[in-house]
Amino acid sequence: MARLLYIIVLFVVSLLVLKYVRRKIDERTNKLNQAKLNQSKQTGAKDMLKCEHCALHIPKNEAIRQGDRVFCSLEHARKHLE
Ligand SMILES: [Zn+2]
Repeated sequence: MARLLYIIVLFVVSLLVLKYVRRKIDERTNKLNQAKLNQSKQTGAKDMLKCEHCALHIPKNEAIRQGDRVFCSLEHARKHLE
């Protein structure tokens, strides 16, 4: 009888531990997802620049600059200056 009780207690405890671990994992993945979302928001619309030639929006780090003008490619920068 004591053995059966022991098994039941063990079962309940392991269920609680499993629940706790699962919740911790969920919290962690939620935080990671939130961080990724914030990062993509920051590198998203905020850092997009418009090409003066074709009006295409390009990431800031890929933009070609000619003075204070912004272009999507060297070709468009050249065409615009001709
Ligand atoms: Zn362009």
